[in-house]
Amino acid sequence: MLSFTHARQLVITKAQSHATPRPTIALPISAILGLVLAEQVHADRDYPPFDRSTRDGYAVRASEASPGSSLRCVGEIKAGDTVTQPLAPGACIQIMTGAAVPPDADAVVMIEFTNRTGETVTVDRPAQPGQNIVPRGSEAHAGDLALSPGLRLGFAELAVAAQVGASTVRCYKKPRVAVLSTGDEVVPITETPGPFHIRNSNTISLAAQIQLAGGEPVPLINALDRVDDLSAKIELGLREDILVLSGGVSMGKYDLVESVLKGMGAEFFFDAVAIRPGKPTVFGRCRNTLVFGLPGNPVSTMVTFQLFVIPAIDILSGAEARPLPFLETTLAEPLNEKPALTHFLPARLEWSGSFPKVSALRWQGSGDIAALTRANCFLVVPADRPTIPAGDKVSVLPRFDVL
Ligand code: AMP
Ligand code: MG
Repeated sequence: MLSFTHARQLVITKAQSHATPRPTIALPISAILGLVLAEQVHADRDYPPFDRSTRDGYAVRASEASPGSSLRCVGEIKAGDTVTQPLAPGACIQIMTGAAVPPDADAVVMIEFTNRTGETVTVDRPAQPGQNIVPRGSEAHAGDLALSPGLRLGFAELAVAAQVGASTVRCYKKPRVAVLSTGDEVVPITETPGPFHIRNSNTISLAAQIQLAGGEPVPLINALDRVDDLSAKIELGLREDILVLSGGVSMGKYDLVESVLKGMGAEFFFDAVAIRPGKPTVFGRCRNTLVFGLPGNPVSTMVTFQLFVIPAIDILSGAEARPLPFLETTLAEPLNEKPALTHFLPARLEWSGSFPKVSALRWQGSGDIAALTRANCFLVVPADRPTIPAGDKVSVLPRFDVL
């Protein structure tokens, strides 16, 4: 059986070979947070556009500003002031943070290291040429590439686009991800479930995970565990870039997802992964759609989404697959799990002392969503290290929406 790292690598490889040129759209900067850039964005001028003071103080000629020498203050420069006049020999000028340093001044002495009496300024320590000045063009020159295609647009990237005046930006369209829950026991959340029915929480949590990962969720109506209903609903899902199914992938008599997909021409790249929860996870392609069959138990659905579906969404979004952001930390209480599978246990990372510690949470197995609301990470128990004493180093995978 595949390890989760191998399975994930397969998703990445198949998604990359699947990703034909993606459609793009030009959007106002207010609408691009979290999307992936599809064009080059260039600096429209030098940055900074002038020699900029990084401190409040006095602009001086460094060679004249030795301790004990006095300089004549000839005025002040505020941020935004037009500055063209060179600094005269023997003079200094009061300058504010963000203001332009005048020609022939080559240092700014912080106000804390000066004394002023009337118009006479003395400095306490020698000035170094260039100190407290960011030279024009040192961050970027006009025409330089400021943002590259494939970059995911977060707040810093938005700030750069704003800085260079890119008020409209061409981005990749989000991949559309169909969500299809399956199961005769599953009822819509707007209906009152019968005594042996359950509400469809997976469609809600999957749509949320898809949105957070940068995809466009397309929820479908739950499919019954019947070949005709399942094939009709899968048919709808195959209109989208990715189809994520929940349930119907285990060994039960009514777990029909894989056989129905096969009948519709799917090829499978894996249909089991050596993990718990999530062992029966299926990944393949049907026509032009990448298809994931995730086990229906809600925690299994959530874990396998984070492990396997996110990289496919990343790649079809025009970005690279983000790595799994494992953290190493210390185990608070001993663990003893079954060997041969890598476990992802709902767990809580706490920063009570100076070092973080992680504890697995008590839970009732992969149906226990309430346990997951108390978890901020999954504790990874490797297949070959099922018993771990307290105090040992362990890996955790942060929940991608809360840490
Ligand atoms: P399955 O993978 O189809 O065997 O489903 C396993 C269990 O997951 C079911 O018995 C349900 O308790 C639960 N389940 C399946 N589908 C959903 C869903 N859409 N929402 C919440 N729980 C579900
Ligand atoms: Mg089922």
